[in-house]
Amino acid sequence: MSINIKSPEVKIRENRLGSITGFSGSASELCEMSKGKRLCDRKHSFSQCLGCSSGQALCQLVMIQDAVVINHAPLGCSADFSDFNFTNRVGQRKRNFKPKNARLLSTNLDEKDTIYGGGEKLKATINEAFERFNPKAIFITASCASGIIGDDIDTIAQEAEKKLKIPIVYIPCEGFKSKIWTTGFDAAYHGIIRKIVKPPVKKRKDLINVINFWGSDIFTGLFGKIGLKPNYIVPFSTIDQLQKISEAAATVQICPTLGTYLAAALEQEYGVPEVKAPPAYGIKGTDEWFRELGRITDKETEVEELLKSEKERIYPELEKLRKKLKGKRAYVTAGAAHGHSLIALLEDLGLEVVGASIFHHDPCYDNRSESGKSLDHAVNTYGDIKNFSVCDKQAYELVNSLNRLKPDIFIARHGGMSIWGAKLGIPTFLMGDEHFGLGYQGLINYGNKVLDVLETPEFVKNISAHAKFPYTDWWFKQRPDTFLKEGK
Ligand code: SF4
Repeated sequence: MSINIKSPEVKIRENRLGSITGFSGSASELCEMSKGKRLCDRKHSFSQCLGCSSGQALCQLVMIQDAVVINHAPLGCSADFSDFNFTNRVGQRKRNFKPKNARLLSTNLDEKDTIYGGGEKLKATINEAFERFNPKAIFITASCASGIIGDDIDTIAQEAEKKLKIPIVYIPCEGFKSKIWTTGFDAAYHGIIRKIVKPPVKKRKDLINVINFWGSDIFTGLFGKIGLKPNYIVPFSTIDQLQKISEAAATVQICPTLGTYLAAALEQEYGVPEVKAPPAYGIKGTDEWFRELGRITDKETEVEELLKSEKERIYPELEKLRKKLKGKRAYVTAGAAHGHSLIALLEDLGLEVVGASIFHHDPCYDNRSESGKSLDHAVNTYGDIKNFSVCDKQAYELVNSLNRLKPDIFIARHGGMSIWGAKLGIPTFLMGDEHFGLGYQGLINYGNKVLDVLETPEFVKNISAHAKFPYTDWWFKQRPDTFLKEGK
């Protein structure tokens, strides 16, 4: 694997990892096809919606506490600014920070700028950001419009950096560049590695980088028991903290879809070892994840004690939950690796995962290691998932699959997806906190949550009785992959 931090651009996932957004079949088939570069994308001939790399880059960068993000884009690309502000504030509360508004600006490109260029507006916005917020760094995210008109954002950033004496970082994350919108995470991390992170001054044996979203703080307690400290990146970190992530003893990630690039880049550039193990969801994944962390940090004995005590603590309740949930049929929709993690977690609780709609698929990660592949881990440990689709959030495919399979419970990771379960009268919940299911306690958390939702079906039954679908009966009689072109 080679990461070129001299280049301002990150290679998109399609080219770097061979990632795809269209597949319909079984999870084991997908794992098999992912070996040896045999995976082809089945293109959608009809698309209802798509995500955007720019949004993924923004969602990470906007949570750096003392930075500002400028979206060099028309105002329409800022439609989700309010969402970022909301998640920022919710996440700050979870981590006991004083809630503050996100520091996000748009250059508001208009038609005139698309003819004469938006460079002057960008320069003015950089000055405005500096004067208004006195930030420690400014990130500039690109958009389709600024990419198409060819504004030289990198040069403008370099000139402003010389003048203002703070890092000003160009993030090339134009929406049109990649169908895999998680490329936006990679673009944001590429900018951080390229322009923010400094070579280590002093290595810290106890410090563990945790690449994460904005979930609750569970690692301070867990790592504290084995003499380690979490260094949460990127949300809610500071520029000073990010400059020193090269000093950590190891990098873990709660989701390889999120952190594949940054973890591999830190190992390549600064020798910070990445924990290459399945995500810590379900007993086996958690065991392997902690054991690998223990091996790297020379804490094997402490880890074994932690695993023993945690398992002794949760097993009585886990067994009760497994008895109650045995045989219940579940359906999952989520981003790639987190979706695979939820499959492992639910199977470990005794549920049968009858199907999944996952937003994209990475046949490998940047570290090219086999041991951390999350779908392979789920299939090899718990068995196949017969109805497995890769569907980049196409709601029409999801609704069709849910209607056919009629699971007992539907679990969604993203807002906008859970409503389809409720409309069909399927007990449904949305779980945005990815740390809720992590580790041994995560099994108990999820088990109780699933039971609660199963025991209160009236809510969704009422919604279903009054819901209207935008889809016709014709569509419900078609196969969910009707609009996927043929391919292997
Ligand atoms: S960058 Fe492109 S895809 Fe993303 S919101 Fe703007 S116009 Fe849409």
